[in-house]
Amino acid sequence: MIVAYIGLGSNLDQPEKHVLDAMAELELLPDCCKVKISSLYRSAPIGPQDQPDFINAVVQLETELSAQSLLEQLQQLEQKHGRVRTQHWGPRTLDLDLLLYGNMIIKTEKLTVPHPHMAERSFVLCPLLEIAPELVIPKLGRLSELYQRVQMDPPVRVVLS
Ligand code: AMP
Repeated sequence: MIVAYIGLGSNLDQPEKHVLDAMAELELLPDCCKVKISSLYRSAPIGPQDQPDFINAVVQLETELSAQSLLEQLQQLEQKHGRVRTQHWGPRTLDLDLLLYGNMIIKTEKLTVPHPHMAERSFVLCPLLEIAPELVIPKLGRLSELYQRVQMDPPVRVVLS
């Protein structure tokens, strides 16, 4: 079993629902069991500003899938949520990123792990810190120290009604 961390994001068509549904669907993936989910967080978009705020969260999974198979499963879930790839950093119904796969460092044509932008993104580091405060990230170091150094404003925790 490998412990993997998945970053979730959505800013279209009831984004909270996309993220909550995806959390449940991740638990049902083959050879995976969900260990922990973060709260939902809201943040302003990066890239083009003429799009809605994002809802983000992080899920920790235990999995027997290979990193490549897990990525394929994540991409199938994105498709199921009607994701259409248009502009870079544009709006999306569901974005799933493989942030971490155990302590492995992976660099293939299709997959880079640790996720290449995670250290710059408060909306990734903050929910990750909530569920894994002691995490040390390969190549990047202690999560709590990364979060102290991040330049971006912190995301706002969403209170679900
Ligand atoms: P995006 O449009 O941001 O969802 O990027 C998707 C592309 O990034 C896909 O073609 C993936 O093969 C590639 N990719 C590389 N590393 C990762 C990763 N750690 N998690 C998710 N997608 C990745």
